[in-house]
Amino acid sequence: MVVLEKGSEPGAHILSGAIMDPRALSELIPDWKEKGAPLNQPVTGDAMVFLSENGGMRVPDFFLPENFQNHGNYIVSLANVTRWLAQQAEGLGVEIFPGFPAAEVLYNENGSVRGVATGNMGVGKDGQPTENFQLGMELHAKYTVFAEGSRGHRASNSSRASSSTKAATRRPTASA
Ligand SMILES: Cc1cc2nc3c(=O)[nH]c(=O)nc-3n(C[C@H](O)[C@H](O)[C@H](O)COP(=O)(O)OP(=O)(O)OC[C@H]3O[C@@H](n4cnc5c(N)ncnc54)[C@H](O)[C@@H]3O)c2cc1C
Repeated sequence: MVVLEKGSEPGAHILSGAIMDPRALSELIPDWKEKGAPLNQPVTGDAMVFLSENGGMRVPDFFLPENFQNHGNYIVSLANVTRWLAQQAEGLGVEIFPGFPAAEVLYNENGSVRGVATGNMGVGKDGQPTENFQLGMELHAKYTVFAEGSRGHRASNSSRASSSTKAATRRPTASA
C-alpha cells in the first residue's frame, strides 16, 4: 500500500488546532492511549459567548445543541495526530511518499481508475525542464483512494478529459 502526500511530510499541510472526537480513532486503533497518540488535553469545559463591542454574553449550557458540547473530546494539534498516524501506518508496512503530489488520474480503457501519476519534478518557472528534471511516475493499483481534502482537484472529473493514455508511453510504472 502506497500513500502519496504532497506536503514535505505527513501533517505538513494539515490545519493545526482542532477539537477531536476520538470515536473514529478508537475504532481504528483501540489502544491509541497506550501507543502514545498525541491526544493529551481533554476538553474540560465549553463556553459559547456572543461578543459585542463592550463585552460578551455567555449562552447558558442547556441552550447549546449537542454538537457544541465537547465533553469526551480532545484539543489536539491535528498536524501531530497526522504525523503519529503516519508512523502507525508505516509500522504496518504502508509506504508513504511525502513530497510527491498525485498530479493526474489514470484511467483504463473502460473508464475505471487505473491509478495516478505523480508530477514532473525540476520544472522551471517558465514551465521548461531544468537540469534537475525528473519525469513523474505512474502508480497502478487495484484500488485508488482519493483523500485529498475538500480543496483537492484529483477526485473531480475535471482532469478526466486529459486521461493519460499518452502518459503511459512516457512514464515509469509501478504497481501498488
Ligand atoms: C479553520 C478550520 C477549522 C477546523 N476545525 C476543526 C475542529 O476543531 N475539529 C474537527 O473535527 N474538524 C475541524 N475542521 C475540519 C477538518 O479540518 C477537516 O474535516 C479534515 O481535516 C478533513 O480531513 P481530510 O483528511 O479529508 O483532508 P485534509 O485534512 O485536507 O488532508 C488532505 C491531505 O491530502 C494531501 N493532498 C492534497 N492533494 C494532494 C495530491 N494531489 N497529492 C498528494 N497529496 C495531496 C494534503 O497535503 C493533506 O495532507 C476544521 C477545518 C477548518 C478549515
